[in-house]
Amino acid sequence: MAKIKILQYPDSRLHKKAIPVKDVSAPEIQQLIDDIMETVKSCESCAALAASQMDILNPPSLTVINNTEENGELFCLINPEILDMRDFVDMEEGCMSVFPDAIKAAVKRAKHIKVKAQDRTGKILEFEAEGYLAHVIQHEVDHLNGILYIDKLSPLKRERLEKKMAKLLKK
Ligand code: ZN
Repeated sequence: MAKIKILQYPDSRLHKKAIPVKDVSAPEIQQLIDDIMETVKSCESCAALAASQMDILNPPSLTVINNTEENGELFCLINPEILDMRDFVDMEEGCMSVFPDAIKAAVKRAKHIKVKAQDRTGKILEFEAEGYLAHVIQHEVDHLNGILYIDKLSPLKRERLEKKMAKLLKK
């Protein structure tokens, strides 16, 4: 297993859509899952990483998630889709690709979601998630669609954040 470099904002690759996985059992997919798991474990307080945040060619649609707020067990969702969302609230979040130590902002997220995905054996999963897990999965599915949480902010909040990030980039 090997760690992979995490792309950092404003890398334009963060806004590219991931490619659907056709063959979950392909060795390069299995290897990538192991490598992303290794990368999640190596980062402090990393809730999850999506393949589209990694410095790799043609990232496939998959994400590795820490299933608890503490460092819990890791699991992989392949081709994840959110089928249903309800009870929206403002949730504070940050991102390993957007100045993880310096930038946080609140965005609207559903408290309850219904998810369809495959696990790393190719099994189709359909489940409901709430709270922390629902929050993380929404952030990850956005990544796979080329969307960052800061893209969801109001123009005014985004502008304020852009100024802060421009200063951080100069450092
Ligand atoms: Zn992120």
